[in-house]
Formats: sequence, structure tokens, C-alpha cells
Amino acid sequence: MNIFEDHIPLEKLKLNEPLKDHTYIKLGGKADILIHPTTKEEIMNILAIAKKHQIPLTVIGKGSNVIIKDQGVRGVTISLSHFDQIKVCDNKIVAQSGSNIIDVSRIALDNSLTGLEFACGIPGSTGGALYMNAGAYGGQMDEVVERALVLTKDGELLDMVRDDMKLGYRNSIFKTDQYIILEVEFGLKKGNKDVISSIMQDLTFKRESKQPLEYPSCGSVFKRPEGHYVGKLIQECNLQGTRIGGAEISRKHAGFIINADHATAEDYLELIKLIKKRVYDKFNIELETEVIILGE
Ligand SMILES: Cc1cc2nc3c(=O)[nH]c(=O)nc-3n(C[C@H](O)[C@H](O)[C@H](O)COP(=O)(O)OP(=O)(O)OC[C@H]3O[C@@H](n4cnc5c(N)ncnc54)[C@H](O)[C@@H]3O)c2cc1C
Repeated sequence: MNIFEDHIPLEKLKLNEPLKDHTYIKLGGKADILIHPTTKEEIMNILAIAKKHQIPLTVIGKGSNVIIKDQGVRGVTISLSHFDQIKVCDNKIVAQSGSNIIDVSRIALDNSLTGLEFACGIPGSTGGALYMNAGAYGGQMDEVVERALVLTKDGELLDMVRDDMKLGYRNSIFKTDQYIILEVEFGLKKGNKDVISSIMQDLTFKRESKQPLEYPSCGSVFKRPEGHYVGKLIQECNLQGTRIGGAEISRKHAGFIINADHATAEDYLELIKLIKKRVYDKFNIELETEVIILGE
């Protein structure tokens, strides 16, 4: 603990912090140490100290796509949610990784820039969205991202262009090589503000009418298997409404598992296991989780 205190202001550092308060799904255990850095230098210091003292390090953005296991996360967890500046320069937007991708899309709208309409309802950070190559309604991060400033696990700063990022369906080099994304540069096009706004309103309406946004969740739990829709597969197994503990397969959207009533991570993981088994038994399809499971 002292080793971090010397480099990070005390108010940015918490011990035994319940991570359920830092995730959308509102479950899971505590972080031994949670730090909210606000500068690049602080992030670099945390990484260097963790490396020197062999302390495990975990990074989260807004926590909208993670399940933290009930025993929590050992070592130091960095939450980037306060590292959130956004700048606009002509047709480019440069966003620090902890900024809300929704805010970036709103700033694009304010500046009549088109390309980020798809992201107007994705509830995560810019860094998390790039890490996951998030997408919705026909748009995806790989279509609008031009560069990213990242930190390798050895503490080296890298300026990457899109082709280096190996962006695929909910996949990226950041996942495989454990880079920390610091800044993301978007290349957008000038558009018509009214048209951009109307597309965003339409997508927001679609999202609100189809997704159980009134409950905590982590969005679509599974990746889409080629040629199929996860929700339909789960629906056809008659699983909607199935509950384990406080976790329930949404009746509104079968691809979502909601935290209906004080669910534990174990409830959630048991329900994932049940869905995978039932879908495999009925359709011979192996579902792969999109959501990231962290901790022990
Ligand atoms: C209601 C709801 C709707 C959703 N709808 C969509 C959707 O339409 N499309 C879609 O693609 N996703 C959707 N999601 C999932 C989620 O919002 C996205 O994946 C989002 O981009 C994750 O960002 P985050 O900051 O919350 O990441 P987190 O959940 O905090 O982290 C996810 C992963 O990214 C890593 N990570 C986060 N930030 C960084 C960083 N700066 N550097 C390195 N690694 C990092 C973490 O280690 C973790 O492995 C939805 C989720 C919810 C709850």
C-alpha cells in the first residue's frame, strides 16, 4: 500500500473496495487496492510499481462488460473512469480511455461529425469499447478509430495505428497482449447534424424497447455464433425467466442476464453454464462468453 501512496494522491486510492460499486451488473467481490488515476504519469507509475513488486494488476474502464467473481480481485485494480478528457480538432476526436463512449458520440453530434452514431447507447468507456471492438446496429469501433496511445505491460508507450490493433469481432490486440489503452483518436466525417441526431434517436428507441435497461446487467453475455442469434437460441430452449439465486435470464431480451435481486457472481456464472449446456444439447452450438470474467 505504502509503495503506491508515495506516487499516487491518497484520495485516488482505496483499500478493500467493493467492485460491485464500480460495475454495471452490481455484483462481485472487493479489490485489494483500487486506484483511480487521472494522468498518464500516474498510470505509468502504477504499472511500474506493480511490475517491480510483482503485484497483479487489473484494468477496468466503466465496468459495463465485466463480471467480478465473489472473492474479488487480488493486487491492484486500476479504474480509468476518471481519466476522461475529450478533445475535438477538425474531423478528429481524441478521447482519454476512461471517457464515456456515449459522451464521445454526443460530442461528435455537437460538432456535426458522423461515424459514431452506433455508439450513442453503448454504456462503457472509450478504452473498453476499443478493447472489445464494441459495435451495435451495423457500426463498430474498427470503422472509426485511427490511432491509439497505449502502454505495454513493460511500461513502453506505443502509438498504434488501426491496422496494428488486430480488431476483429469483439477482439483486439489489447486483449491478447494486455496493453493499457490511454488515448483513442477517432477519424470522423462532416455530416448533417439533424440526420446524425435522428439516427441516434432511432437507435436509442430501438435499444430502449429491446433491452432490459431497467435492471443491472452487462449487456449481451455471449458472442454471436456465426449464422445465429444468441437470443433466439436461448428463447428456443425455453430459458427466458430462468433464475439462479438473484440472476435471471431476461424476459425482454434472452441474450441478457439481469441482476434481478442481489445476485452473486456465482449465481451469474451458474446461469451461464446452464445456458451453454442447454444450447449445446439442443443445437450442438458452443456459446462463447463476450463478457469478461475477472477475479477469483
Ligand atoms: C446495457 C448494456 C448494453 C450494452 N450494449 C452493447 C452494445 O450494443 N455493443 C457492444 O459492443 N457492447 C455493449 N455492451 C458491453 C459494453 O458496454 C462494452 O463492451 C463496453 O465497450 C465496455 O467498456 P467498459 O469501459 O465498461 O469496459 P469494462 O467492462 O470496464 O472492461 C471490459 C474489458 O476491457 C478491458 N479494458 C477496459 N478499459 C481498458 C483500457 N483502457 N485498456 C485496456 N483494457 C481495458 C478490461 O480489462 C476488461 O477486460 C453493453 C453493456 C451493457 C451493460
